Amino acid sequence: MDSSDGYIYILSSPSSHVKKIGFTQRKVTVRLKEWRKSCPSMDYKLQSWLMCRQVKKTERLAHRIFAKKRLARHTCIDCKKHHRELFLLPITNDACLSVILWANLLALSL
Ligand SMILES: [Zn+2]
Repeated sequence: MDSSDGYIYILSSPSSHVKKIGFTQRKVTVRLKEWRKSCPSMDYKLQSWLMCRQVKKTERLAHRIFAKKRLARHTCIDCKKHHRELFLLPITNDACLSVILWANLLALSL
């Protein structure tokens, strides 16, 4: 893997339309396990992931595209952190994945 390669993942929280969009350069399942441990109340499920180049840039662009859907500043009841990568997205998984793919194409062309 190139140093810019990685995975963008979408985690969903079954009790809401909140989705977490993040990236990792390790195994997606390992990252999921960490999130499930640090923030158990969200009961995260791995919805999708996409392997891509320029993964950090892609994540940044995807977050920017979804900026208006970003959850307001809050404190996580589990880990007490303010998660900036949470979005209220009542859309299908395919729609979400399409936006990430689009962000990736943008990241590669910029
Ligand atoms: Zn948390």
